[in-house]
Amino acid sequence: MFFLVSAAAWAEWRTDARPKMGTEVSVYFWHADESRGKAIIEEVFAEVDRINALMSTYVESSRISDINRRAAAEPVFAGEELFQLIRRSLDISVLTRGAFDITYDSVGQHYDFRDRQRPDEATTEAERQNINFRYVTLDTGKGTVSFEQQGVRINLGGIAKGYVVERGVDILRQHGVENGVVTAGGDSRLLGDRRGRPWMIGIRDPREDGEVAISVPLEDEAISTSGDYERYFDEDGIRYHHIIRPSSGRPVEGVHSATVFGPDAVMTDALSTSVFVMGVDEGLKLIGCLPDYEAIVIDADEQIYYSTGLADPASADAESSSLAPAPGTC
Ligand code: ADP
Ligand code: MG
Repeated sequence: MFFLVSAAAWAEWRTDARPKMGTEVSVYFWHADESRGKAIIEEVFAEVDRINALMSTYVESSRISDINRRAAAEPVFAGEELFQLIRRSLDISVLTRGAFDITYDSVGQHYDFRDRQRPDEATTEAERQNINFRYVTLDTGKGTVSFEQQGVRINLGGIAKGYVVERGVDILRQHGVENGVVTAGGDSRLLGDRRGRPWMIGIRDPREDGEVAISVPLEDEAISTSGDYERYFDEDGIRYHHIIRPSSGRPVEGVHSATVFGPDAVMTDALSTSVFVMGVDEGLKLIGCLPDYEAIVIDADEQIYYSTGLADPASADAESSSLAPAPGTC
């Protein structure tokens, strides 16, 4: 009898995965009714499409493309939702002292990882002058965005997937779902637990395809990983990948992956990109200052570092280590 019950119960997990936003978006949740489950899946993917059509720089007709075309000449109306996400991005730039910067795209636009294209030195040098989140001005009253100078561009690639999974889980919640996961590339939002057990979330080994470096048990949380293995090409021993250091306009070296988890996927997404840029020391210090967030960083020597909240006191002398923020640094 027990087996029959559990077999029937297993069938109530609803799931689908589709290529979207240049990655794979998946949804997985518990729902007793099959046809309602299917309708919920469609609603989640329709929401992904709606957000992509508004916020993708790869979509000519998107609002963000319109901003990139015109905002250096005149204030451009962004609409509440996009305005708020740009505002949050700028707040995170302040929090991370510029490590997270949506204006990275003036250089970023010249990369095409599929075609192994990168900007030459002169282009990088010229375009990096346009990277500075302070060049983006928001008018809260009017809901407009303007750029201080020609050449500035914004791209929400480091935060929009977190927003998408947060919205996806909102939809599950509205339909009374209590256990589920929405994932977009390296960003997942977990709703509840896996019916009585935590979700086990694997963090990829950055250099061994298909291998898991660490698994973390989590419930009702968001988790994001930024890696140098997602979009990249190797040339003359250098890995050109998609996370750009705003101050140099070049792909960040020193870290292979940065994972952040905490209550909000918009934050974990932006923070994983930020910690990747900031590196082990500075990145984990920042996370140590944010009480609800934790991080795991794998550096270029494949060493694994944990934020203070995760540190196992028994392993304080072990190879992996944690960096506590010095008093008064937060
Ligand atoms: P993904 O989930 O797509 O792997 P990440 O969260 O790791 O993305 O963020 C990487 C993306 O963020 C890049 O593809 C690019 O769109 C954008 N990005 C790159 N460098 C920065 C930066 N310094 N600040 C903000 N966004 C960035
Ligand atoms: Mg991110």
